Amino acid sequence: MKASAKDGIDLQSGKGRVVALCGGVGGAKLAFGLSRVIGSDLTVVVNTGDDFEHLGLLISPDLDTVLYTLGGIANKELGWGRADESWNFMEALRHLGGEAWFQLGDRDLALHVERTHQLRSGRSLTDFMRTAAERHGIASKILPMSDDPVRTMVATSAGMLPFQRYFVEQRCAPEVNGIVFDGAAAALPSTEVLAALQAPDLRGIIICPSNPFLSIDPILAVPGIRKLLDAAQVPVVAVSPIIGGVAVKGPTVKIMDELGVPATSRAIAQHYGGLLHGLVIDEVDAAEGAEIGGRIHVTPTLMKSDEDRERLAREVLGFVDMIAADLQPRAKAVG
Ligand code: GDP
Repeated sequence: MKASAKDGIDLQSGKGRVVALCGGVGGAKLAFGLSRVIGSDLTVVVNTGDDFEHLGLLISPDLDTVLYTLGGIANKELGWGRADESWNFMEALRHLGGEAWFQLGDRDLALHVERTHQLRSGRSLTDFMRTAAERHGIASKILPMSDDPVRTMVATSAGMLPFQRYFVEQRCAPEVNGIVFDGAAAALPSTEVLAALQAPDLRGIIICPSNPFLSIDPILAVPGIRKLLDAAQVPVVAVSPIIGGVAVKGPTVKIMDELGVPATSRAIAQHYGGLLHGLVIDEVDAAEGAEIGGRIHVTPTLMKSDEDRERLAREVLGFVDMIAADLQPRAKAVG
């Protein structure tokens, strides 16, 4: 079955809770839209595979991107970090000859210092992020995928690199041969993540347009999470991060090329295997929709403004509700 906005998606209908799986910048744009539309009914489960320790600080780049984006204080000029930033700390660090490959703004630094302090005093990352979200006036829940450490390692032509060394220090230049998630097999999803995915009033699960290999796969690698998505009795819908064969930003297409995967929305659907009930693709890829098969919603997916984010969020929710209306148990048919 195919659907488009014109095919009668009802943008007002459903009720209940929504879980969104999300990485950093790309995913956070849709999470922002969803948060504007459904507020406290949204739980964002965020990748922590990119987390690392730097200068003695515990840094969670994707969680912080989601926090700043939903809190309305993301730095739109830079495309990362927080707005209204100053760089005195970095200047002083450079002066001392310290490691300056990872940029930490002064205001951003406060988050890392406080998180490190709280976690070393025994608080969980989940608990810390709950307070941080409240302090930023965010009604939606922002949950790390796990409170246990999972570390994305990238096997490259330059050897095995911790994710941030590959992504920031080496600017994704080395060729990627594979990706592993150290610690994932032993990690537990938090009770909050398990509860969100099994909420009795769950409306749907949305996989944001994040990098499937680097941002979503680590979440699915936490034991139990993939199984819950697989068994979900509510629609599981993804938004493709590929528009017209290119990624809006970041190394998604470069990595797909290097791993021998075509840079198409069809490949994204196939990558998620039997998890999806539906896929949202961009209008420039409309012709691909028929090839993918299953429930496809075609719409502009490039989110430049807050209004774009909110509009796409409403459409994705409408698509979820449309699928829910005729959901046959286990009728996963995309890819
Ligand atoms: P990262 O962890 O900061 O790299 O962010 P994500 O993994 O969440 O997002 C990266 C992906 O987001 C890339 O594949 C981009 O193509 C995709 N992306 C970014 N902005 C948009 C957008 O406006 N629309 C769509 N469809 N994808 C986007």
